[in-house]
Amino acid sequence: MTLSGKTAVITGSNSGIGLGIAWELARAGADVVLNSFTDRDEDHALARDIAEETGTQARYIKADMSQGAECRDLIAQAGSCDILVNNAGIQHVAPIDEFPVEKWDAIIAINMSSAFHTTAAALPMMRAAGWGRVVNIASAHGLTASPFKSAYIAAKHGVVGMTKTVALETAQEPITANAICPGYVLTPLVEAQIPDTMKKYDMGRDEVVKKVMLERQPSKEFATVEQLGGTTVFLCSDAAAQITGTTISVDGGWTAL
Ligand code: NAD
Repeated sequence: MTLSGKTAVITGSNSGIGLGIAWELARAGADVVLNSFTDRDEDHALARDIAEETGTQARYIKADMSQGAECRDLIAQAGSCDILVNNAGIQHVAPIDEFPVEKWDAIIAINMSSAFHTTAAALPMMRAAGWGRVVNIASAHGLTASPFKSAYIAAKHGVVGMTKTVALETAQEPITANAICPGYVLTPLVEAQIPDTMKKYDMGRDEVVKKVMLERQPSKEFATVEQLGGTTVFLCSDAAAQITGTTISVDGGWTAL
């Protein structure tokens, strides 16, 4: 299958899952727009690598997904947006009665509200192009809960709900909206949780990975960023044209339990 001629904007894509999705979309022929809130040489180098290896026109655009106006401006700067992947996300772990308000606000803004702003800005472009795909990267935590992640879980449940609404609002158009719900993927976001968890449970790194993280995942394996990219490419394919308003779990069986 080819996504040649399509432009894909992937928010929060200078590392982890977003970067993996950008690579797979570019390998499928799409011109990708990478994004983060920083603007370093390395960010642009990532786009140059993708462009060189895949022969597509990869670019990097700086925009802070915690700011609604910058979310909308990202789409405007991209110029077109056939595929929108709402991936930017952060995490903070604390009991709800100790949860810092500024962390709550940032998580809700980056993990959920950014998808509202980018989708609102991208849908008119998709309608003008006569084709569109919205892929929201939610989480197994968009379908289930666990303690100490109240803001993340609220945001991810919100993303799943918003995805269904976008699907219904575009149901009679050649546009689909779906959410992917990953389980654990070993990215910088997950790596950052390991030291605190080691301290909390007085465990070594391997024990934390096996007994705390992969304990929830029946496969006992991390999903990979390439697998998340492949799932995104599938949702952009013609085979998925009637798949809309749903969630696809890539979680080694976590939510089947
Ligand atoms: P990551 O830390 O590697 O990636 C997060 C990305 O978001 C980075 O590119 C970062 O630059 C970007 N970002 C953060 N704040 C931003 C802001 N204000 N503006 C623009 N970009 C910003 O982590 P990841 O694991 O690749 O996470 C990607 C998405 O996948 C997130 O939405 C996360 O919630 C979701 N997810 C991850 C896992 C996992 O196990 N890694 C599981 C389920 C869901």
